[in-house]
Amino acid sequence: MVAKVIDGRAVARQVREECRVLTAGLVARGVTPGLAVVIVGDDPASKVYVANKVKACTEVGLHSKVYAFPADTPDTVVEAEIHRLNADPAVHGILVQLPLPAHYDGPRVLAAISSDKDVDGFHLYNVGALVQGETLFPPCTPFGVQKMLEYENIPIEGQNVVVVGASNIVGKPMALMLMRKDATVCICHAKTRDLAQFTILADILVVAAGRPNLILPQMVRTGAVVIDVGINRLPDGRLVGDVDFEGVRQKASYISPVPGGVGPMTVTMLVHNTVMAAQRAAAAG
Ligand code: NAD
Repeated sequence: MVAKVIDGRAVARQVREECRVLTAGLVARGVTPGLAVVIVGDDPASKVYVANKVKACTEVGLHSKVYAFPADTPDTVVEAEIHRLNADPAVHGILVQLPLPAHYDGPRVLAAISSDKDVDGFHLYNVGALVQGETLFPPCTPFGVQKMLEYENIPIEGQNVVVVGASNIVGKPMALMLMRKDATVCICHAKTRDLAQFTILADILVVAAGRPNLILPQMVRTGAVVIDVGINRLPDGRLVGDVDFEGVRQKASYISPVPGGVGPMTVTMLVHNTVMAAQRAAAAG
């Protein structure tokens, strides 16, 4: 069996086109969806991510603005800016680019974002809502994975899902979202003993560990769906995921590549969440 490669760029294009149509409708009613991006410090990778988010917004017709602060800015100043943005009706989504400087109380800064504008879905209210099964803003990366599965008509109900990685931004919300779709979900992490004994049971394997070549063909069931969230830069400069792509491709039924898989979906779902926030604000106002 040779897997079908899931084209994340194509799925992202489709979702962005849907967002573009919705945005045009909102603009016609006098509401331009707006995203505020708060970035603190000058981490080069964060700057690239922020530039990509702004570009994606512009392409779809959203308004976006970056609020950049030097690394030594007191977190109270950033929180005050977030409160101002919470009250600004032209801003429908607010995101704080992570990581924040080490001296910041990260959870407190994220908690300052109004849960109605929390398009990254990291506010405790939205995390709690996700646990209960309903959230305003599903976190963008796992939301993107879910959209990729839907796009390929891959059934989730009753499937064995194994999520490798238990972070707050990918692994845990991914597990909750697929549980909500009635999958049987197992979460593995760095302390899991004998990872392969779990991964081999997966009908759908989602890998988000940040370890190149973590998943080898012998760890994957023939016919499994394999979604690789990992992004790793090798010493030779190549960008790879966490899965041995060429090896696992010979066994899986579907596989997502890196680059060109989950990556383009993450930014796209941020745009989607912002358009949804604007739609809700327009309906309320
Ligand atoms: P993280 O470091 O916060 O969490 C990694 C998780 O993987 C932890 O739960 C850890 O216990 C687990 N892990 C580490 N080594 C493991 C091992 N050997 N076996 C099993 N589990 C192991 O990372 P994160 O923020 O969740 O990101 C994970 C990966 O996904 C990274 O490569 C990151 O760059 C990538 N990522 C990609 C996107 C995207 O848009 N494609 C978005 C977010 C993160």
